[in-house]
Amino acid sequence: MAKRRLSAETIAAQAGGYVDRASGGVVPPIQPSTTFVRDRDYEPHESGNIYARDDSDTVKEAENILARLDSAKTALLFPNGMAAIAAVFRALPSNSTVIVQSQIYWGTTKWVREFCSRRGLVLVESDLSKPKNLEKLCMSHKPEMVFIETPSNPWLRCTDIAHASKTVQNCGGRLVVDATAATPILTRTLDFGADIVMHSATKGLNGHSDVLAGVLATNTPDSSHWMAIIADRHDAGAVIGSFEAWLLIRAMRTLHLRVERMSKNAQIVAEYLSNHPKVQNVFYPGLTDFEGHKVAKLQMTGGYGCLLSFCIKGDASNALRIAGRLNLFHRATSMGGVESLVEHRHTIEPDTGIPENLLRLSVGIENVDDLILDLGQALE
Ligand SMILES: *Cc1c(COP(=O)(O)O)cnc(C)c1O
Repeated sequence: MAKRRLSAETIAAQAGGYVDRASGGVVPPIQPSTTFVRDRDYEPHESGNIYARDDSDTVKEAENILARLDSAKTALLFPNGMAAIAAVFRALPSNSTVIVQSQIYWGTTKWVREFCSRRGLVLVESDLSKPKNLEKLCMSHKPEMVFIETPSNPWLRCTDIAHASKTVQNCGGRLVVDATAATPILTRTLDFGADIVMHSATKGLNGHSDVLAGVLATNTPDSSHWMAIIADRHDAGAVIGSFEAWLLIRAMRTLHLRVERMSKNAQIVAEYLSNHPKVQNVFYPGLTDFEGHKVAKLQMTGGYGCLLSFCIKGDASNALRIAGRLNLFHRATSMGGVESLVEHRHTIEPDTGIPENLLRLSVGIENVDDLILDLGQALE
């Protein structure tokens, strides 16, 4: 019988079971040293550490926890999510073809377009949450890599990861999934066959709006793509500092509790909004009549995350007025923190098809009745 895998809750709560060998502490120390001594025979220190670009024990501790949360063989930390995404694309051979999901996190789309045109990669953008669409494009383009985001930001489109993995791999490509909005608590992306899972750890993984971080994890560490990613991080130097890695380790101890509570709150808020006369429609994977619900149910367990969008009846000025009347939801970008946020994406990216009457919420861990009352008075 297979050994029972430790659940993410247990891994997170115990920081991967860490006990400091030197002190017996149940919390890892921060090792800020950038360089490490050699002995008189000029052999590296017994730790193997040479220089902190590769050799921060604190970063390795965080990577160990992150890998285990995603049931991955290995994980690499980056100074933020975009640095992780950039490494994934930079590690591809020249002239590669990539298919990227359309209408995802705007920072990704913007950078990938610029990078592919400058480096001569063929870029195909399409709504890959539609299975037939992905099948057709993989057949006709034979891409080296397909990049999806599920649930997507801010449309909450849900892509069937198992189906996408099979489809992409059958054509000889690799599937990379940005699972930031799901976190490893709600979706174990690699279990569904993806080659690489990416998270902006700035969001739910850290969850306290005080650390920038990004992570990639894989079960195929020997692949040429992953080796190139390791080399890219080392050579181009997109590494995270020990202090940030330590804060992330600390924050992840309560990851499961935060994600559970946020998902519960978001579900209640989504249901409240979908019954509100001033609201046109709500985008949330946990709503049974939402387009992505069936797929989300296949691959999300324990809830549907903190992120939701809704369109109000009215125009940009109405939407901005509602945002301006909120007292508890901070008007700020980002998501996955313990405090609730509201954003008018159309103001930030006016020419990308985001409706002017759409508001995006990141629902925090507050008392949900307080949040509902705040929304209610703002929508009046
Ligand atoms: C925020 C975000 C990113 C980028 O991460 P940073 O840590 O801000 O660089 C990528 N993908 C998604 C879905 C995000 O929400």
